[in-house]
This record gives sequence, C-alpha cells and structure tokens, in this order.
Amino acid sequence: MANQEGAYSPSMADRFGRRIEYLRISVTDRCDLRCRYCMAEKMTFLPRDQILTLEEIAVIADRFIARGVRKIRLSGGEPLVRRDFGELARRIGRHVKAGTLEELTLTTNGTQLAEHAEMLVQAGMKRINVSLDTLDPDLFTRITRRGDINKVLEGIRAATSVGLKVKINMVALKGLNDHEFLPMLRWCNAQGHDLTLIETMPLGIIDEDRTDRYLPLKMAVDQIKAEHEVTPIAYRTGGPSRYFAVEGINARLGLITPLSDNFCAGCNRMRLTCEGRIYMCLGHEDHVDLKAAFRAGGASAIDALLDKALRLKPLAHDFAIGADARPATVSRHMSVTGG
Ligand code: SAM
Ligand code: SF4
Repeated sequence: MANQEGAYSPSMADRFGRRIEYLRISVTDRCDLRCRYCMAEKMTFLPRDQILTLEEIAVIADRFIARGVRKIRLSGGEPLVRRDFGELARRIGRHVKAGTLEELTLTTNGTQLAEHAEMLVQAGMKRINVSLDTLDPDLFTRITRRGDINKVLEGIRAATSVGLKVKINMVALKGLNDHEFLPMLRWCNAQGHDLTLIETMPLGIIDEDRTDRYLPLKMAVDQIKAEHEVTPIAYRTGGPSRYFAVEGINARLGLITPLSDNFCAGCNRMRLTCEGRIYMCLGHEDHVDLKAAFRAGGASAIDALLDKALRLKPLAHDFAIGADARPATVSRHMSVTGG
C-alpha cells in the first residue's frame, strides 16, 4: 500500500494476520459529564503535563497514517472540551482531503456539538457518533450525573443540519434505560439516525457494581423482536458493531456485544491514549509507551514502537462481568483509552 511519501508502507498486520488500519485516539481524559457506567462521581484526571499536546497527537497521527492507518476516530473523555480541538481535527482532516486517510470521525457526548458542528464538517468529517442513553430528560441527568439533554438534542440537530450523518450510541443499563430500546430505535428512525446498542464493559473503578447494570443485548433485541422482525445484514463501518435490519424501520441497528458475543476475531483496531500509550486491545493492560520515546527521539522513534505494539495485539479481550469477576478487568477508564 502506498503511503503519502509514495513509498510502500511496511505491513500493519498483527501476529494473527489481522490488518490493523483503524486508530482511535483519546484526545483528553476530561469530561463535562460523569456517566455512572464510565466514571466515578469524583474523578481524578491526569495532570496536564502527562497528556500529549495536540501538536504531538497530530505528528503521531501523521506517522501512523504513513504506516497504513486508514481510519481515525477521535474520542476521549469528551473531545470537544479540549481547547483547540478544532485545530487538531483540521490538521488530521488534511489527510482526508489529500486521500491519504479514508475517514476521520468523532465520538462525542454532544453537549458542545452545536458550537462545533460546522468545524467538524470543515475538518472533513462526514459522520459522527453521539452518545445518548435515554430520551427521558430526568433519567439523562441521573445517568450522566449532571447533563442537560436539551443541549445534546440541540447538538444533534446542529450536526444534522450541516450534513453530518449521526449515529446514536446507547449503553444498555439494567434497571435504568432497559425499557427504552424500542422507543429509542423509533426516535432514531424518525430523526434519520442509526442506533448502536453497547454492553457495559468492566473498565476502571466506578462507584457502582457493574454486575447490577450489565444487560446482555439479547434482551434488548428481544424487546425489539416483540414488534419487528430483526435480520442480520452485511453492512460494516470498520468498528466493532454488527448490524441488523429491523422490519418497518429504516434506521440500522448496531450491536456491540463484548461480553455476550465476543467479536475479537475481526478486530482491526488500536488505540492511542491521551497519555501517549498504544493499547492494542481495550481489554488488556499490555501497551507500549510512545510519549517518552517520542519526546526524546521525535517521529523517527515511532516506527519501532509501533512494530512492538503490533506484536502485542492479543487474540481476544479478557472481559468478564459477574459474581466471580473483578469489578474492573482493566484498571484504566474508557475515557483514558478512548471509547
Ligand atoms: N465522551 C464521549 C461520549 O460519551 O460519546 C466519547 C468518549 S466515551 C468513553 C465513548 C463511548 O464509550 C460512549 O458511547 C460511552 O457510552 C461508551 N462507554 C463509556 N464507558 C463504557 C463502559 N464502561 N462500557 C461500555 N461503554 C462505555
Ligand atoms: Fe464523559 Fe463520555 Fe464517559 Fe459519559 S461516556 S462520562 S460523556 S467520557
């Protein structure tokens, strides 16, 4: 595969022959919400000097693209709370315009989307994911511990009006939003969004026991199946969702089922954390630390560490939830690694 310098990229395959072409970047671990399944109410965030600068993220992204990364998703924490995020998006977006990157996307909680939607389009984004676990304003504030659903709905409308395709991410939470799968799917359908349901994963210590909230997505699908036929389809976006068509509904239904139906065999992803570590799996502690090497040796230090990271990629994650499982299989929160 030719890179932007015209040379052939060294292989980005792992030990199991999977091509690793999808990079998720956590641009910050900070967030303006405190979703109960993601963070503790009193979170300690990383000191600023431990976080990569936006310039460092951009240079690392350049190198990964030169090696063969084809899709980048910016995430966090909440990416839109990082000052000058637009500069980074535009900088990486140049690769989309130059044809050296197929896609640049974003996952956001939507609270500041209204102000940033136009900038995202200018940066070359065509579709984004917005997290919305409920349509009930009070429940939204309860799940996020502080959020105002109206800001998110306003953000989604702004994104749609500038031409961004929006996919809604909804984490299935037993006893909280488990009555809302069908209403959310119908709302998405009416608004022109696809919907992806996600099982809660044991990442980082939170204030609750995740076992109490874990809901296998089969139960969500059963709720939908009670009124509509649900059929698997071949559609893929390069992420971990498996997609389904729902009779009478135009919105595609995506399922992310790390616990109940492991999807690791086809995994093409790696993650760059806001601290500059490369994790090859959301569910493993193994990583390589790019930051120190990069700060000492510049971009040329990245290649050897990337090769090392590729060799570390495990066959599958070790997630477990239940009476015998540890409260967090992995100690870092999703916000550090980038969901
Ligand atoms: N703040 C942004 C947002 O909420 O969309 C981006 C970061 S957030 C960590 C990315 C996605 O991960 C969100 O859809 C969120 O619901 C999901 N998420 C966070 N913690 C999770 C967990 N422990 N298990 C499953 N999904 C989780
Ligand atoms: Fe923030 Fe996203 Fe985590 Fe919610 S899921 S606390 S919005 S990072």
